[in-house]
Amino acid sequence: MGNIITFDKNDTAVSLSMSNSGTDVFLNVLLISGSPLAETVDQKRLLVFLAEKDQIVSKGCSGFDITELPLAPDTFNEDKAFLISVINAAREQKNWALLDYTPNADIINRYLDKFEAMISAFTVHDINKTALQDWLSDKDSDDPVNCGFPRCRKHGVFLSFFGCQICNS
Ligand SMILES: [Zn+2]
Repeated sequence: MGNIITFDKNDTAVSLSMSNSGTDVFLNVLLISGSPLAETVDQKRLLVFLAEKDQIVSKGCSGFDITELPLAPDTFNEDKAFLISVINAAREQKNWALLDYTPNADIINRYLDKFEAMISAFTVHDINKTALQDWLSDKDSDDPVNCGFPRCRKHGVFLSFFGCQICNS
C-alpha cells in the first residue's frame, strides 16, 4: 500500500510513489515549509488541497493527479512559481524545527525532486478547466477555504476540513 502522485500527460512518464508514512512526511514538510509563503487566495487554496490529502480517514487513498490541482489559468505562472518555491522551502528544511520529529532528508529530497519535475513539466495548456470549479463546488460553507483559511496554532499550517494534517499524522 502507498500513494502515487501522477501527471497524466502523454510524453511525461514521471510519477511519485510513496509509502503511507512517507506520504505523511511529504505533506508535513510541504505544509510546514510552504504555509508561510502563501499570500494570495489561489496560493492558499493549493496548500489546502495538499492538506486534504490527509490520511486520517484512510491510509493509501491520498494519491492524486497533478491536473487535479485547483489552478486558474489567469494566475498560472505565479502559482506554478509558488509551488516551486514551496518545494524549495521544504528542501531547505524551513520550519522543520516545528515538527516533533526529524524527517529523513534523503528520502524527502527524492520525493521533492520528482514532485518538482512534474510541476515543472506542467504548462498552462495542461490545466483541467473544471478542476478548480469542481473542487470549490464540493465545499460546504464552513470549509476552511470559505472561512478565511484558518491555520493550526501549533504548526502555522493551513487547515483542511480534516483539521491540521501534521497534528493528525
Ligand atoms: Zn498542527
